[in-house]
Amino acid sequence: MSLDQGKAPFALPKLPYADDALAPVVSANTISFHHGKHHKTYVDNLNNLIAGTPYAELTLGEIIKKSAKDEKAKGIFNNAAQCFNHDFYWHSMSPKGGTPTGKIKQMVDDSFGSLADFQKAFKAAAVGQFGSGWAWLVASGDKLKVVKTGNADTPLTQGLKPLLTIDVWEHAYYLDYQNRRADYVNAVLDKLINWEFALKNLG
Ligand code: MN
Repeated sequence: MSLDQGKAPFALPKLPYADDALAPVVSANTISFHHGKHHKTYVDNLNNLIAGTPYAELTLGEIIKKSAKDEKAKGIFNNAAQCFNHDFYWHSMSPKGGTPTGKIKQMVDDSFGSLADFQKAFKAAAVGQFGSGWAWLVASGDKLKVVKTGNADTPLTQGLKPLLTIDVWEHAYYLDYQNRRADYVNAVLDKLINWEFALKNLG
């Protein structure tokens, strides 16, 4: 769901590819449960939580920013952020994933040294996130950085511009890789990263 999507009730966005398009790195079974059950539940929960509240008048981006500062709206924040994080994750992968070129390649080289150094930093964040969460490539000014967030947290609330993400909640990989999170992260990094999406997000 894009940040300016509004307003409630929100709908589960369609995947940008078929359920089996990312196999064997991410199986159709995983995609089908992850999108059709997990992601859908976040959308349904968000709609239920905001119904009849001032949040129902806001776009998804506005809901995330407002609820992040509202102690009584933790549930709204968690579900709204997960709606954004998941849609962003689906687009961060592509069956035609590959290596960066042009402007984004130059920025990766300037910020990390090389593509391999970026991959090392991203893998360390994704594998090192304790428990559920996300690893991100973000832009901060004219530099790129790798950050990790726990549970539903999103770099949007830290003044960072997300470019790519990987979901490291167990539901993202357990059916395919069981406890081998590093194997899942390596395979996605090698085969599926959608650098065109990262470039588009740079703006
Ligand atoms: Mn997930």
